[in-house]
Amino acid sequence: MTKQNASQGHIFYRRMAHTHPEIVRGEGVYLFDRQGKAYLDGSGGAIVVNAGHGIDSIAQAISEQAAAAAYLHPTMFTAEVIGQYADALAVIVPLENPKFYFLTSGSEAVEAAIKLARQIQVERGNKTRYLTISRWMSYHGLSLGALAVSGKPKMRKLYQPMFQDVPHIPPPYCYRCPFQLEHPACGLKCADALEEEILNQNPDNVAAFLAEPVSGATLGAVVPPDGYWPRIREICDRYGVLLIMDEVMTGMGRTGTWFAAEHWGVVPDILTIGKGAASGYFPLSVVVTRGELVDLIASGSGDFSHGGTYSHHAVGAAAGLATLAYLQEHHLVESVAEKGQFLAEQLKAQLGSSPYIGDIRGIGLMWGIEFVRESVSQQPFDQALHLSQQITDEAFRLGLVVYPGSGSVDGHRGDHIMVGPPFCITQDEIIRMVDLLKQAIDTSIHAVV
Ligand code: PMP
Repeated sequence: MTKQNASQGHIFYRRMAHTHPEIVRGEGVYLFDRQGKAYLDGSGGAIVVNAGHGIDSIAQAISEQAAAAAYLHPTMFTAEVIGQYADALAVIVPLENPKFYFLTSGSEAVEAAIKLARQIQVERGNKTRYLTISRWMSYHGLSLGALAVSGKPKMRKLYQPMFQDVPHIPPPYCYRCPFQLEHPACGLKCADALEEEILNQNPDNVAAFLAEPVSGATLGAVVPPDGYWPRIREICDRYGVLLIMDEVMTGMGRTGTWFAAEHWGVVPDILTIGKGAASGYFPLSVVVTRGELVDLIASGSGDFSHGGTYSHHAVGAAAGLATLAYLQEHHLVESVAEKGQFLAEQLKAQLGSSPYIGDIRGIGLMWGIEFVRESVSQQPFDQALHLSQQITDEAFRLGLVVYPGSGSVDGHRGDHIMVGPPFCITQDEIIRMVDLLKQAIDTSIHAVV
């Protein structure tokens, strides 16, 4: 597939009408296509490329492990690099005596996490506990189990009859509070909604609560109010419910700490990591839990009742280890808070006065911009206009990659754009990114109002 564009050949993609430029090289925050056009990757694709493009040490680690021994079946063999990666991760994750199960996508990590929670409950003697409560306006993955716990109505609709539905509670989303209240007078009703739902379902049926610490693709970088996560932890403890934090997007430094949970001093029972784990150099995801809980399974039924042909992949571990080493050697996670502050200032200075921008929110290098037809009423744009996609397409034309989202109002309506560049981004690149984004927003909004 060299002469013609790959999207016109024997491939079908999710976006069927989109012509996919062929990328031949990446470096830092830039991708270059075959014609030499440069794209500033302002969102690392789907908030994936934490370390940056074109890093030789990661590519080399992958190549060396693939050459040494590429595939080892996880029920039969292991490789030194898998242990080394687990040891390196153990230093940065907040869980006590952590143990890791390696997979290849965020969806798989979430599936594994909710199954692990069920098995832990059974091993504890709580055989009736099977439900995972999750939140509306969330995304946890593409497989039917992960989609069932996801809370994005638009993506669930077609498959709704195919999965077993699970209870969802409203998200902590102060810009459009689901309870029409204001923080702090609200008393964190969004967190107390978990207790209500546990009681409603009967605690004896509830295995786990699953949520993104900072809402990602569906709401667009919405940070919960202080107090939310500690309250959630308390409620989970009160009812013997395991807390699963989905850090597929927020993990590995994206929010300025290795894991977003650290901002609120909350430690989950199970944590999922994806995207940034290998910065996109290899499809890699991780499920983490406390050693004590793994020991419970080991001394109980003996095996984790789960599989995965590509679990514990040696090449994935090499990619993850080299990515982690790169982030540490270049102190990139430490730089996220400061760069994020600069990015926030630029976004607010350049876009904040637009009547069509309702909210600019985020943390670290994970920011969302929500669009409204009218700022006082917070009325969204007509969905038929596909505004966030129009802005993304215009930015793409200008050579900027951003991540579009819709559904922030009620799961169906509302438009936002996310930015989440590689951590190596410089101040000049941030200025250029925001400038291109402003141009794309102005052009797209001008075309529809
Ligand atoms: N959880 C979260 C929080 C995510 O953002 C995503 C991907 N957007 C997933 C799970 C699913 O990950 P993947 O696409 O790698 O399967």
